[in-house]
Amino acid sequence: KIEISGLRKSFGELEVLSGVDQRVEAGEVVCVIGPSGSGKSTFLRCVNLLEQPTSGRIVVDGVELTDPDADIDAARTRIGMVFQQFNLFSHLSVLRNLTVAQRKVLGRDKRRAEETARENLRRVGLADKENATPAQLSGGQQQRVGIARSLSMDPDVMLFDEPTSALDPELVGDVLDVMRGLADEGMTMLVVTHEMQFAREVADRVLFMDGGDIVEQGSPAEVIGDPQRERTRNFLARVL
Ligand code: ATP
Ligand code: MG
Repeated sequence: KIEISGLRKSFGELEVLSGVDQRVEAGEVVCVIGPSGSGKSTFLRCVNLLEQPTSGRIVVDGVELTDPDADIDAARTRIGMVFQQFNLFSHLSVLRNLTVAQRKVLGRDKRRAEETARENLRRVGLADKENATPAQLSGGQQQRVGIARSLSMDPDVMLFDEPTSALDPELVGDVLDVMRGLADEGMTMLVVTHEMQFAREVADRVLFMDGGDIVEQGSPAEVIGDPQRERTRNFLARVL
């Protein structure tokens, strides 16, 4: 569960988030949509403190990340994040890509880390690729490795920032299917996406963000199917 209150973020004079309040319940899938530059990535990055909020509180499963005394590193391991770029170690095998952080950050021994890695490679449909290097994989496969790597840390919450935007269209479906599977398993997910079909089918709730504010929110049927705000309608008219 993620509780966000009064979240503000400015870069110098530029206010990018102007007071966001949100709760993401355990097992809930929330999709964030909105125009370029509206603050979606900054919002996600503030949730796991990749960006330091200017003010506001972020509480994940009862642990306040914004508490100056919080153990940010410990809290952050419970939040998985998947980006548009896969950020895999290109010179390491897929298996090693999945075990490095488990061993370094969680202190798992080799055997335990490899077991967890293999289990998660199965989960994303890549059990047969553990010895490949990222360069030998398609973009969609690399992104699924990225997801498996995050899952190997046993996160309570997964954040996705446009995970399919860098992919060729024919590779998008496999990645979305993996995300759909995670949603079905009850993973708590906050997903920035341009994939409206995915948002419609998988999201419990959709947030439309514009100019650093959540301008409209509700079920996919409400926000995407029957938007009330002019700004939401204008945006959807451009992307649908
Ligand atoms: P996109 O859909 O293009 O990914 P976004 O909604 O994710 O857009 P952000 O990346 O959150 O938007 O950016 C919001 C605003 O904050 C933009 O005006 C951007 O230029 C600005 N911004 C983001 N990161 C920084 C930074 N590190 N320093 C200064 N300005 C930044
Ligand atoms: Mg972005």
